[in-house]
Amino acid sequence: MLVLKNCRFVPFLTEGTDALTGDVLCCEGKIEKIMPAGSAVPEGAEVLDLEGKTLLPGLIDLHVHLFYQVMQDVYTGNAAPQPVVALNQYRYAQELLHDGYTTVRDVGDLHCRGAMHLKNMINAGKLQGPRITTSGPIISSNWTNLDSLDIYACGSDGFRDAVRKNFANGSDFIKLYGSGSLLMESNEPGYPILESDEIEAAVLIAKRHASYVSVHAHGETAVDMCVRGGVHTIEHASMISEDTLKYIDDNHLDTALVLTMFAVDEILEMPDTYNGKRMHALIGKILSCLKNAYDNHKNILIGWGTDVGYELYRTDPMREFRLRSEMLGFTNEDILRQATIDSAKIIYQDHLIGSVKEGKYADFAVVDGDPVQDISVMYKVPAHVIKDGTVIR
Ligand SMILES: [Zn+2]
Repeated sequence: MLVLKNCRFVPFLTEGTDALTGDVLCCEGKIEKIMPAGSAVPEGAEVLDLEGKTLLPGLIDLHVHLFYQVMQDVYTGNAAPQPVVALNQYRYAQELLHDGYTTVRDVGDLHCRGAMHLKNMINAGKLQGPRITTSGPIISSNWTNLDSLDIYACGSDGFRDAVRKNFANGSDFIKLYGSGSLLMESNEPGYPILESDEIEAAVLIAKRHASYVSVHAHGETAVDMCVRGGVHTIEHASMISEDTLKYIDDNHLDTALVLTMFAVDEILEMPDTYNGKRMHALIGKILSCLKNAYDNHKNILIGWGTDVGYELYRTDPMREFRLRSEMLGFTNEDILRQATIDSAKIIYQDHLIGSVKEGKYADFAVVDGDPVQDISVMYKVPAHVIKDGTVIR
């Protein structure tokens, strides 16, 4: 049992009370009761006095790859053997948890499925880490995209087969490669990779497994094909058109956009490279497309993503908060929603996580200051992190 005393609540992320401050009782990993400040502490309960700090629900990152930047052996410089990759994935997951990310979605793993095995160890209580939901390896019809990592499939039969295999091997959802990449010189980010029948086959089989499809897609045509094919989360969505956004709205689809500004900004900071030059040429268009989605399509959920590897992530873990404010002009409230309740809704877990509510998991990030008034409070890592009612730090 844990009692969090003297919490400051964020009204739009706290349900079942109008109070702006209070105490929270956590029992068996769940939020048992939101109580008035100064309520009696049950005997034997651990107490953490927040002294007026802000109690946020645990943060959610919907676009990570736990294996990124950990594929080299630190001693030999050679490709890391699987145990080294696995240890590094664990290290990255630990770092994310300590920074307040109590839930992460791994959108593309190696064939050895380190993220899935890590998830299973965490769920079994053998290791500490964030809640993980994982796609397993990405399914692609293009040999030039990370071909050694992805599962290759071709045609609707091939996609049905690959999607079934991924679910049989433990995937929680499916990730497809839908367009060229901003990070690969061998293809243009706008270039569509999938055909409509392949997208539709994957979406149908995912539905049969009570799940959904996510897709890596930058270009206008690729994004549009994936949306019309029934893909649920469009990752990056860099050049999404007004036509596509209108199609989502008009058909009341629950398609969501998972932005990854950390990765975009990092490429911008390498202006002398091929990728950097290409990104500088595209950034005006990308920002105007994403701002249009945000400004004019309020029913379309925008999720939280980072899409960087471990080494880069740790240089500035909270950078995504700054970029959404400075590059995209999102409001503080919307940024906070995107990193919590909106991302929970996108992965259909808002009955369990994403807000402070009795009955939900006792997952929290505690920050010093009021991030609703001043989003820069989020630029540094939280003062405390709690997962499953256990104080992580
Ligand atoms: Zn990615």
